[in-house]
Amino acid sequence: MVQDMLKDKIALVTGATKGIGRQIALTLAGEGAYVYVNYRGSIEKAQDTVEAIKANGGNCEAICFDVASESETKEAIESIVKKEGRLDILVNNAGITRDNLIMRMSEEDFEAVLDTNLLGVFHTVKFASRYMMKARSGRIINISSVSGILGNAGQSNYAAAKAGIIGLTKSMARELSSRNITVNAIAPGFIETDMTNVLSEEVKNAAISKIPLGHFGNVDDIANMAAYLASDKAGYITGQVICVDGGMAM
Ligand code: NAP
Repeated sequence: MVQDMLKDKIALVTGATKGIGRQIALTLAGEGAYVYVNYRGSIEKAQDTVEAIKANGGNCEAICFDVASESETKEAIESIVKKEGRLDILVNNAGITRDNLIMRMSEEDFEAVLDTNLLGVFHTVKFASRYMMKARSGRIINISSVSGILGNAGQSNYAAAKAGIIGLTKSMARELSSRNITVNAIAPGFIETDMTNVLSEEVKNAAISKIPLGHFGNVDDIANMAAYLASDKAGYITGQVICVDGGMAM
């Protein structure tokens, strides 16, 4: 049954075909928001999220754009605002990894991760914030990572992008707060998704040994925090980095 914490809100979730983004889209729609389910390539995968939301009684539609492309992002956000008259909630979730040790990392892999994970956030906020400013209200939630706080061997590109998101979040929060727009980051620890399923048992066990709560999190752990930050209940929270990581980064 659909709840009403986000009733009548218009939300955009980037990278919502699977994993954390899919669950955030499902949770926001489950709280009454109309959700734009962003995908970059496969309409089939986006359609899977759309059908799951609708089966739950929620409302949504898929929207195709690559967050790394400024022109595609601009066009997509303008099309949402043209249709709905506003955009209340923006969740920047799209992300990729191209892990390697720094001495073996190609410039191409470094740039690809920065382009999607950091530049992508700049693009969506640049275009969404102008409408939120006019509306004098808005919620922006950026998915960072504990890697951006602690660093991680083999992930210098990813950690740099995720640390960049934290600086971007705090600066944007300062810039947009006078217009009643909150900007916060969630820093997940290890969450069970395709991104972590590729890790070897050895790497997973080493990670678990560093998590005080002793296990990986699940997509609901992140989605519930995103829904809370998107709601009126979180109106006095801005510029924060909320770790949802089983205590890993404390
Ligand atoms: P995932 O299962 O690999 O899903 C990533 C999503 O991002 C997919 O829907 C993917 O779409 C989309 N995407 C990638 N590049 C895109 C682009 N250029 N434009 C639009 N969409 C794009 O990853 P996840 O584990 O759910 O992670 C989601 C977010 O949480 C990421 O930002 C990740 O860095 C962060 N995070 C995850 C963990 C974890 O343990 N899983 C921990 C910390 C932070 P396609 O299917 O088209 O590629």
